Amino acid sequence: MLDAITSSEQAIALEDKHGAHNYHPLPVVLTRGEGVYLWDVEGKRYFDFLSAYSAVNQGHCHPRIKASLLEQAETLTLTSRAFYNDILGPYEKYVTEYFGFDRVLPMNTGVEAVETAIKIARKWGHEVKGVQESEATIVVANNNFHGRTTTVISFSSDENARRNFGPYTPGFINIPYDDVEALEKVLEENPNVVGFLIEPIQGEAGVNTPADDYIPRISEACKKHNALMIADEIQTGIGRTGSLLAVCGNCSCEGHCEKQDTYIKPDIVILGKALSGGFYPVSAVLADNPIMEVIKPGQHGSTFGGNPLGAKVAMTALEVIRDEKLTQNARKLGRIFRERMESLVKKSEWVTLVRGKGLLNAIVIDQPENGDVAWRICLALRDNGLLAKPTHGNIIRFAPPLVMTEEELHICCDIIETTILNFKA
Ligand SMILES: *Cc1c(COP(=O)(O)O)cnc(C)c1O
Repeated sequence: MLDAITSSEQAIALEDKHGAHNYHPLPVVLTRGEGVYLWDVEGKRYFDFLSAYSAVNQGHCHPRIKASLLEQAETLTLTSRAFYNDILGPYEKYVTEYFGFDRVLPMNTGVEAVETAIKIARKWGHEVKGVQESEATIVVANNNFHGRTTTVISFSSDENARRNFGPYTPGFINIPYDDVEALEKVLEENPNVVGFLIEPIQGEAGVNTPADDYIPRISEACKKHNALMIADEIQTGIGRTGSLLAVCGNCSCEGHCEKQDTYIKPDIVILGKALSGGFYPVSAVLADNPIMEVIKPGQHGSTFGGNPLGAKVAMTALEVIRDEKLTQNARKLGRIFRERMESLVKKSEWVTLVRGKGLLNAIVIDQPENGDVAWRICLALRDNGLLAKPTHGNIIRFAPPLVMTEEELHICCDIIETTILNFKA
């Protein structure tokens, strides 16, 4: 029998005793979510300003996605890809048209989709670009976050994520983020580069937002040297940054937007997180025929990848983004949020900077990287009814569900402002 939880202390003690200590959660025990709100086991209500790392862009327990999940759960959940099912095809048509690519390869978690993109790029490099076997090299940025598998942590620059997990997978070159010259140099010097794997904004690294012309210029450099631009939009995609994909630049149209001259089309796009609105692990790799066709039967797969339950949920999650104009809302509210935080920067000794795009933003706290001011500000925010978490010590990310209203956003900004102005070290 499952222990019935009656207090936060009890739940925390159970996790502490029986779970691996691979996370350091903020001490709050949540039991219910609806839209922009979360409730703890004592009944206190919070605004969610993390959105499960942008997996619940559509808000908690969205009724339409829930209905879709329940309906499909009563019909058919898993067949494996040994057989066809009647949901996967319609989903594949929908998701490829939505984002403007020929084909999709469905997976489950984000990092699996990253692994998939790496495998596709390497195979493309060996079979299409003509790189010698086992020489394919992928360029990545310093301070990247692409997930936790052995290969993916092999090219992490976070020692905590890497140390003692070796031996590491070879075939990656790290360069500084937001540095086009560094990319051009490595492309010129190394004909074995098959791709550049990049986050359009580095979420985990602290919402590192590159120069406006970074994305168009790296796209150009990749084209020039016949290397694939691989955009990891797991956190930035699906409306979060005020455009459907962060690489869409300044366009907020409702579907894919190839007709916009600001749109940069990557060769490969990786999606996860909000692709299911937080109901179920669903991820995807999108590419056009000349790239995706290097994958043939038996060469890659996943038992759960493309299952009818996940496919149905993903389709509805994307419909919600479009029908409720959540991308446009993220763009509008993001501007208001940064304006409010700019004014806080002027008033507070603790906040030095706000940065971000759409509703993916962060403030930088004036403390050394290993200080605990940002953590304690998050505890104070929690006490005042708003949940956020520091990333990289002195940075606090603010990423509420995109269903937030303007009025709610102002209430939240008031909470943040009051908390920080009253904070004492
Ligand atoms: C969260 C995230 C991942 C990993 O996704 P998981 O579902 O946790 O495996 C990869 N890349 C980026 C940019 C992410 O934010």
